[in-house]
Amino acid sequence: MAAAWLCECVRSCGTRGIIPTPLEITVLSGDNHPMRIAMLSYHTCPLATLGGKEAGGMNVYVRELVRSLGRRGVGVDVFTRSQDEHVPHVLHDLGYGNRVVHVPSGPENPLPKDDLPNYLADYVSWIKAFSEGKGLRYDVIHSHYWLSGEAALSLREDWGIPFIQMFHTLGEMKNQVARSPDETASPARLASERRLLGGADRIIASTEAELAQFRWIYRQETNKVEIIEPGVDIAHFYPIPADEAREFVEATDDRRIILFVGRIQPLKGLDSLLNAMALLYQRGQQDLHLMVIGGQPDADPGEVSEEMNRLKALTSELELEGEVTFLGRQDQDVLQYYYSAAEILVMPSHYESFGLVALEAMACGTPVVASETGGLIFLVKDGETGLHVPTAAPQALADKLQYLLENDSELRRLGEQAAKYARKFKWGRVADRMIEVYEQLAVETERAQSAGQ
Ligand code: UDP
Repeated sequence: MAAAWLCECVRSCGTRGIIPTPLEITVLSGDNHPMRIAMLSYHTCPLATLGGKEAGGMNVYVRELVRSLGRRGVGVDVFTRSQDEHVPHVLHDLGYGNRVVHVPSGPENPLPKDDLPNYLADYVSWIKAFSEGKGLRYDVIHSHYWLSGEAALSLREDWGIPFIQMFHTLGEMKNQVARSPDETASPARLASERRLLGGADRIIASTEAELAQFRWIYRQETNKVEIIEPGVDIAHFYPIPADEAREFVEATDDRRIILFVGRIQPLKGLDSLLNAMALLYQRGQQDLHLMVIGGQPDADPGEVSEEMNRLKALTSELELEGEVTFLGRQDQDVLQYYYSAAEILVMPSHYESFGLVALEAMACGTPVVASETGGLIFLVKDGETGLHVPTAAPQALADKLQYLLENDSELRRLGEQAAKYARKFKWGRVADRMIEVYEQLAVETERAQSAGQ
């Protein structure tokens, strides 16, 4: 049985934390959950393999939020587009009776992002039939990314329940840093984001930065916005002694590790880090090893992404082949070793709505050098848990890295503070805040419905 449906998605479901820890359960109510949420994650599955082109922070967010909601007795069905006909349509992989439902909508395989809007109507119809067939009534719809938001608009109309929207990334922000037409957001996406900002019952922003973007870039009223910062699992991401971590990551020489973790996309600004590494090397810092986690550098030549090819070519051009290792995507279960083995985690992104990687590294006691952009400005405390650097500025990045590499005590101080600071970002706290919002909305809807009777 198992082998037939061990697709990307299922194989990667976390091997940790899924089994309920009895002490954490507040209400375990099987099908009698006091509150039931329809969570929409149309384009990507919370169980997908992380670090590829499309699976990263949003998948982790949905997965961890749903697990924490489950611990608090909240029932959740996550509806995602089926990308593999061999995977069962309903999986109970999130614990506490909460399900991931793979919705057949269009061909059941991965599709180019531009084709996805074509199958939204199928997705919505299937979800309606599923809930009717099972006699399910949801209290709130919680949708992620603009495509799911479009589905939420239709479902709200049918079900008469409120919906909460989270964007994770915004098209206008993407356009501000796009370097080529294929990196830009479509006009349909931009129009949809405006519609959703106006039409959702609540909007969740990850940080003050996102709120400011709604207000100043989208010119939208922000009285429906709640700021809820994401979390990090500190039972998994914690400081590991450097010698043990270095052994695990097979750091066999004495070189100091600089680390990058993330999807391999132009938005992540990895080229700035490569250029900064070359500058450091020229300045005599030759005991460095840049480890790059993410993407699939060893895929068949035709399958390696354009960005990965570009970065590899740049590495050769800068004569850094010996100094840079492209490790490819790694299971999240081992990332704590890499974070702990590194002197510094660098997040050179051009735009980042939040940046879970920075939080995970800080939780492991590793200072972060991060671009001064979006959520990273709020997440990484300049001079306290890491350093800020302007975006796309290799010289400035090299300066900051050099400063830290030459100041062991400063590196230690920032690392210790980072670990302490990251502990306040708990998924349990995110779930508690989210439940407050769900409850407020459910009460408001009930009041409006009784007033209308
Ligand atoms: N990640 C992973 N393996 C990889 C690369 C990334 O597990 O090879 C995870 C990482 O731990 C983090 C997420 O993917 O939780 C990336 O989230 P982030 O918010 O930093 O970036 P996004 O993907 O949202 O742009």
